[in-house]
Amino acid sequence: MRTFLIVLCLFLTGTVHAKELILQPVRVAENVYAVIGDLGGQTYENDGLNSNLGFVVSDAGVLVINTGPSQRVAQALHTAIKKITSQPVKWAINVNSQNHYWLGNTYFKSLGAVIIAHKEADRIMRETGEVQLDANKTLLKEKIKGTRLTFPSELMDETRELKLGGTIVQLIYFGRAHTPGDMVVWLPQQKIVYGGDIVFTDRMLAVIPIGDSKGWVEAFDKLMQLKPSFVVPGHGRSTAPEKASKDTHDYLVYLRAAAKKAIDQAETLQDTVDNLDQSQFKYLANFDLLAKRNLNRVYLEIEKESF
Ligand SMILES: [Zn+2]
Repeated sequence: MRTFLIVLCLFLTGTVHAKELILQPVRVAENVYAVIGDLGGQTYENDGLNSNLGFVVSDAGVLVINTGPSQRVAQALHTAIKKITSQPVKWAINVNSQNHYWLGNTYFKSLGAVIIAHKEADRIMRETGEVQLDANKTLLKEKIKGTRLTFPSELMDETRELKLGGTIVQLIYFGRAHTPGDMVVWLPQQKIVYGGDIVFTDRMLAVIPIGDSKGWVEAFDKLMQLKPSFVVPGHGRSTAPEKASKDTHDYLVYLRAAAKKAIDQAETLQDTVDNLDQSQFKYLANFDLLAKRNLNRVYLEIEKESF
């Protein structure tokens, strides 16, 4: 009978309806929340949500950190917010230019929110937005419905401070890291930082062509100089700063030192990638997929840095 009804529904509407998406925010501190995405890749099943979203509730409105990879995820985030507060969403931050952080912008703009990103993130969104949206259409099929490109309405450069009633939020740029336009959201009163893609925990980070592993280590060090008591990463579970350092900083430093040594000893790229023992980081999810690829990229970066 159930199958019959589904077939009938398909026949009548001609479309498949994905079941409702319910997001479960985790309370990080009073009025501070995170939605932790899957540790693996973006899939149809996980709604492309393999990164973290967040929000801060104040008496002047709600600030959303990341709008998700689709209109559907943005809407589900808003539904989750409404279960916690009746305050309207007035600000939305895109911590970088990657699809999972900004393709839900259209939804929050329709609520009247100001959308803020770093100017470098905005540049990349404009250059690659169509390609990002097409990729998500292929991945998410009918779940992408309603998703359109909406670029940030305000850009920041080095720092920007927002006063949400009595709550202070600082947006800070530490230079090129995972991507050219990574931003962190710092709550100085609570000493909590949303590290964006400067911080990966529990899962292996990815060194990608538009990034810069040297800048990334420097950005991470500057982030830690804020002395956060708690870190919400871009990918992975929220954690104490020590764990964030181990999973992100120590791994990057290890890769860079190993690649530098190999280049100094005239070891080829192929031999280096084949022979370096990265097993101390095997506890990170996606190790098999990313370990060799990351070393490959870092080797090429260091080779370039030496000239
Ligand atoms: Zn990311």
